[in-house]
Amino acid sequence: MREAMNEQAICVGVSSCLMGEEVRFDGGHKQDRFIRNTLSEHFRLVPVCPEVAIGLGTPRQPIHLMERGRGEAKEIRVVGVKDASLDVTEALNDYADRMADRLGGRISGYLLKNKSPSCGMERVKVYNDSGQPGSNAPGAYAARLMERLPNLPMEEEGRLNDDVLRENFIQRVYVYHRWQTLLAEGLTPARLVDFHTRHKLMLLAHDQAEYRRMGRLVARAGEMPVEELAETYETRLMGTLRKRASRRDHANVLYHLMGYLKIPLDSHDRMEIVDTIEEYRQGRVPLVVPLTLLEHHFRRHPHPYVEAQHYLRPYPRELMLRNRI
Ligand code: SF4
Repeated sequence: MREAMNEQAICVGVSSCLMGEEVRFDGGHKQDRFIRNTLSEHFRLVPVCPEVAIGLGTPRQPIHLMERGRGEAKEIRVVGVKDASLDVTEALNDYADRMADRLGGRISGYLLKNKSPSCGMERVKVYNDSGQPGSNAPGAYAARLMERLPNLPMEEEGRLNDDVLRENFIQRVYVYHRWQTLLAEGLTPARLVDFHTRHKLMLLAHDQAEYRRMGRLVARAGEMPVEELAETYETRLMGTLRKRASRRDHANVLYHLMGYLKIPLDSHDRMEIVDTIEEYRQGRVPLVVPLTLLEHHFRRHPHPYVEAQHYLRPYPRELMLRNRI
């Protein structure tokens, strides 16, 4: 059983240099204003610099990924740029294992510095023996963390400039935190049904087919051991939410929501909603516009199923993420 979690504090791991800490090889930092100024108001950020943690000083010799060996013996090592006898591959892997054990049940997301041979999630340059860049791979620390904590929401700071990816990451952090809280309180089939019901429209927006498959899994919740149920559900939940929700997907959910207003609304109000959803679907207004109109009608004609949906309030409104997608 994971230890009880504080509802108020959502912890998110972050590469220390993104917080403005001067831990890079050249003694500098890579402060990210959105992370440092905005996300720090909503999450308790946990800075981690794996290179400093394994004993490389600051400033230090830069390291990079290097391919060694041939055929089946080929492997990627993390070595010094100037002195290739400095090999920190095992040290970074071991440190990632220790952090996965220490942080696994406590953090609800992780933000990593891109292009780093330690922290980069993808497309970090891999050099050959002659010092030429060839293939790409994730950084060593990030790769081991992703392997150990496959369902933990992780993202690179560079990709947060994409409004859809930014919204997706933050939504996943909040969902994962609610899931961790549920596990800490003790998962039962009845609690899973309640959790799933509240996330239905969110899941529908990301993958209609998986939304239906997950519904069938939850319907059989009492038929499998609770540990197995938790593992299966968590993997499918987080895997589904990782997929991008398009304007068409959101429009489908918006029409679904409108279905709960058919009886109380007159034809003029219904046409106004349809027009607004179509404006959104065609990219002329952001998602917040049709949602605000629907919420206005649901305040006058509340519906318990709709009120329970996290889709309508996936994270604090002040983040204003739906004003940009
Ligand atoms: S990218 Fe990672 S290893 Fe490099 S300075 Fe930042 S936190 Fe440290």
